[in-house]
Amino acid sequence: MSETLFTKIINREIPADIVYEDDLSLAFKDINPQAPVHLLIIPKKAIATINDIEEGDREVVGHLYWVAGKLAQDMGFAEDGYRVVMNCGENAGQTVFHIHLHLLAGKPLGWPPY
Ligand code: C5P
Repeated sequence: MSETLFTKIINREIPADIVYEDDLSLAFKDINPQAPVHLLIIPKKAIATINDIEEGDREVVGHLYWVAGKLAQDMGFAEDGYRVVMNCGENAGQTVFHIHLHLLAGKPLGWPPY
């Protein structure tokens, strides 16, 4: 697949406010936050959409959720609640084709997300 700007963030070719990194993943603050806390958690492996996740990616995709829970606890908003969501494709508004979890917190979040 073609490289997205998230690969450039992983490679430090463009800046981001990185809050967590390990062998499999990177988390950084969304540049256009939709809540007081809005983080993106991405795999270092470039996977375009949920539709492109392969069986061998199960560990890394599960890992993203583990990172979400860890950050919620480490950053102190686990008790208050938060939302983790991954958009897939046009109708969901996906704009960057490198899968990413949005982690939103810091206020009551509306549902459904019209
Ligand atoms: O789910 P979707 O693909 O729409 O989300 C992409 C997200 O990446 C947006 O929330 C956008 O603000 C964010 N972004 C970013 N840093 C960039 C480019 C996009 O945080 N340099």
